[in-house]
Amino acid sequence: MGKTLFFNIPATGHINPSIGVVKELMQRGEQVLYVNTEDMRPQIESIGAAFIPYPGARVIGDIDGLMARASGGNIPQNALALHQIGAALLPFCLDLIDREQPDYVLVDSLAAWGKHAARLRGVKAISSISTFVLTPGSPLPLTPTLIAETVGQLIPTLPGFAGTWLQMKRRYGIHIGGPLGAVMSLADMNLVYTSREFQPAAETLDGTYRFVGASIAARPQSVEFPFDKLTRKPLIYISLGTINNQNLDFYRQCFAALGDYPAQVVLSARKKTDLKALEPIPANFLVRNFVPQLDILERADLFITHGGMNSVHEGLWYGVPMVVIPQQLEQSIVATRTAQMGAGIALATKPPIGQVTAAELRAAVETVFKDVENYRRAARGLGDSLRAAGGATQAAEAILAFAQAS
Ligand code: UDP
Repeated sequence: MGKTLFFNIPATGHINPSIGVVKELMQRGEQVLYVNTEDMRPQIESIGAAFIPYPGARVIGDIDGLMARASGGNIPQNALALHQIGAALLPFCLDLIDREQPDYVLVDSLAAWGKHAARLRGVKAISSISTFVLTPGSPLPLTPTLIAETVGQLIPTLPGFAGTWLQMKRRYGIHIGGPLGAVMSLADMNLVYTSREFQPAAETLDGTYRFVGASIAARPQSVEFPFDKLTRKPLIYISLGTINNQNLDFYRQCFAALGDYPAQVVLSARKKTDLKALEPIPANFLVRNFVPQLDILERADLFITHGGMNSVHEGLWYGVPMVVIPQQLEQSIVATRTAQMGAGIALATKPPIGQVTAAELRAAVETVFKDVENYRRAARGLGDSLRAAGGATQAAEAILAFAQAS
């Protein structure tokens, strides 16, 4: 029986794919100590793993503020906040490794501090990657506007990067890398929760990458939904996910684009949206703050999504063609890849990312429905590839084989 520390960040999209893996490891007799911020304790303890909180503000400064900054800004700002969190957390991570003596550590790809501590103590590290791996072959929309925008965002962060970089070099003798080292931290083995088929340019990635697919577990049916109202076909489902979805203008564009379309439309409009503010709502729309997405996708003919990795995997799992309208850069890669693989259409992937007109949206929906069988076949094929990759079982076996190899 082995022992592991799992260092993660407080984000549902990064914790969810790890849950099945942790359960599988525990079933095989491994002891898992899961490290995250205190508010994630209930979710971790509910699966039976031991929970260890990151130290609070009094010990290492404003970690909550930094964590918020690590997801709230542009990519250079987020990367800098992650490096600063790493610098603040490293002494804690080293002490924890010394105290617990794990056989190996698991580290989310945004929690590079766990990997640095493991390397300093000569412990094997495995990266847990819940997005696509960024490679030179990733379909980034490298337009002059995007490049200029990113350089403009990077310049004010450079003193911060230089300071953290020097601090880590002087104190610990380690190179923490540039912004990429913070947002895509790779380790001795890299577990990727998608399939090799879906990952862009997978052929450029060596044997350290293990594609284990998605584990879309049925969720307990706790979200109310009037399923008896789903009477008309085809069914279109629209969601911009749980983070970047305060886009009321987009929802109104959906009304304009599809209000007279011969389909029923379910729109998930975010928990905090005042649905009254969206009125008048067309008769063929069912708008809710939150819906049981897997149950809706099981019945849907088309999914209009922001391209969040979970949502796209879920769409593919149920073989649903997609119109992907990214709201940020990372989702633009997912959107482009989905379209490249024939499972849907990507709109507004280049800056200004996510800006579509009602006419463009309507045209994309019509294009998919005109050729729906082909789009469906491609989506199902990718769904099959996600299942075939083996999920949490395969992930746990790969981890144990790697941990036990000399
Ligand atoms: N989700 C849901 N009901 C909703 C909206 C979203 O269950 O009404 C779930 C969805 O199934 C997915 C997650 O929320 O698992 C969103 O994750 P994703 O990575 O797609 O987007 P994010 O919210 O991280 O941008």
